[in-house]
Amino acid sequence: MPSIRSLLPKLAAAYPAISFTPGTRFAWSPDTHTVYYDEAANNPELLLHELAHGILGHHDYSKDVELVAMESQAWDKALELSATFAVVIGNDMVQDSLDTYREWLHARSTCPNCEATGYQSGKDTYSCIACTHTWRVNEARICALRRYKTK
Ligand SMILES: [Zn+2]
Ligand SMILES: [Zn+2]
Repeated sequence: MPSIRSLLPKLAAAYPAISFTPGTRFAWSPDTHTVYYDEAANNPELLLHELAHGILGHHDYSKDVELVAMESQAWDKALELSATFAVVIGNDMVQDSLDTYREWLHARSTCPNCEATGYQSGKDTYSCIACTHTWRVNEARICALRRYKTK
């Protein structure tokens, strides 16, 4: 599998509208059209995943379910890219990543009062139909929530 270092010039040449910048973790910044990558973690799968967010034009989202959908779309696109750039993306990695977001969504949407599943009533609020309780959740940023596995 190619290293991030050998992959970067190829990705930059193929996607000149997107910048690649070393950072403390893998992330896509829609505001600056930049993919950040962690040089210390040689993880070409995550590099392709973040690039996929960029290619798909992922920006802001108003509902948490949209974020989960974007994560799924980004992995589908990353799998497409993986064939072109000779990167192997294991299904376990994709499922683990998506599970993290699904668990996150479940935790946010579970009513702290009665444990029924609530609905998102605002950017940072959920409401429960069962007991009418309303609760606030923290702001979530795209791709900031994943627990990265070290290899
Ligand atoms: Zn409730
Ligand atoms: Zn992502």
